[in-house]
Amino acid sequence: MIRPSLLDISFHCPLAHRLADQHGAGRAALMGQAFHALSAATGGDKEQKEIADALFIRLSDKEAEELMEWHTPEDFSMFQYRMRYKDAEKELPIGLTEQGRYTENKSKAMTYGTLDMAWALQMEDRRVAIVGDIKKSKWTIDTPDCLQLWAYGLAYADMTKCTSLICGVWAAKEGHWIWGKEWDLIWDVDRLLTRVTRAASNTQGRPCLGPHCSNKCYARLHCPEYCMADNSKLAIPEPGRLTEDTAKNLLVAAQSVKEQAEMAIDFCKEFTRRNGGLKHEGKVYKPIRGKGRDSVMGVKKVREILGDELAARIINKGGQGVQYRWVNDTEDK
Ligand code: SF4
Repeated sequence: MIRPSLLDISFHCPLAHRLADQHGAGRAALMGQAFHALSAATGGDKEQKEIADALFIRLSDKEAEELMEWHTPEDFSMFQYRMRYKDAEKELPIGLTEQGRYTENKSKAMTYGTLDMAWALQMEDRRVAIVGDIKKSKWTIDTPDCLQLWAYGLAYADMTKCTSLICGVWAAKEGHWIWGKEWDLIWDVDRLLTRVTRAASNTQGRPCLGPHCSNKCYARLHCPEYCMADNSKLAIPEPGRLTEDTAKNLLVAAQSVKEQAEMAIDFCKEFTRRNGGLKHEGKVYKPIRGKGRDSVMGVKKVREILGDELAARIINKGGQGVQYRWVNDTEDK
């Protein structure tokens, strides 16, 4: 049985969920769990507060500091209704069967996990399931209409007798909601369920290397296929001979080699730190201590202390940045 959070990578590759189960998602997952518990505790949930406290102790100072900059989910308007975070069902264990039904029994579920938050909105002509998921940043996910949220949403809609579904992502770093479309479950349920089922059953067979590895597979540095990329695959073609295919393979190999190299350098730094240096022909590689640089507290803290108006005088709005990333090709639908 596969977790909903692994469905999107499992759709592409049958090995990814096994590696994730063996190795976990590391520090990112721990930060995510701590932030989820912290958010759920803002409504006064004592159990979640205790979970958040226990998880915070396991974070490094830097990680805890970063987390305190993230924003907890805000209320929002949906149609003409005001939806309040404190009224949401939070941290709800939920499973989806192959027939598209809700189950609380893990052994009957094809996918089972913990839904961050959900509301069942009764309107005049229909009942709408709204499911929300907290992500670190808007860059963590291409769209809220993904297999993870469809799986949660189908189960929650069945549980609460809703006939349509809206999925949303709370981007914690930026502090805003991103909403998907409204799915009419009378017409669309088969379409969504077929894709979820395909991902949930894609558990056997060879690993499948591709663009999905670098931004969706948390266990990629434990994957033999991903780590097999080496310098020989980085041969740059002569000018004018780069095609879409060679560029694609070159990029996937380059991203893999870069990540492996960064990890190798981190290991060497740690070895050096523990052993006092690496010596080679009259040179020594070692940590050099520099003078600490002064820094200013984060933007969120500055706003809290000074208030929005005063803070606006000293916060410079950044210009539009450009990122090169693998995202869903909307022209390819
Ligand atoms: S890195 Fe790529 S090939 Fe390897 S398990 Fe992850 S998705 Fe599959």
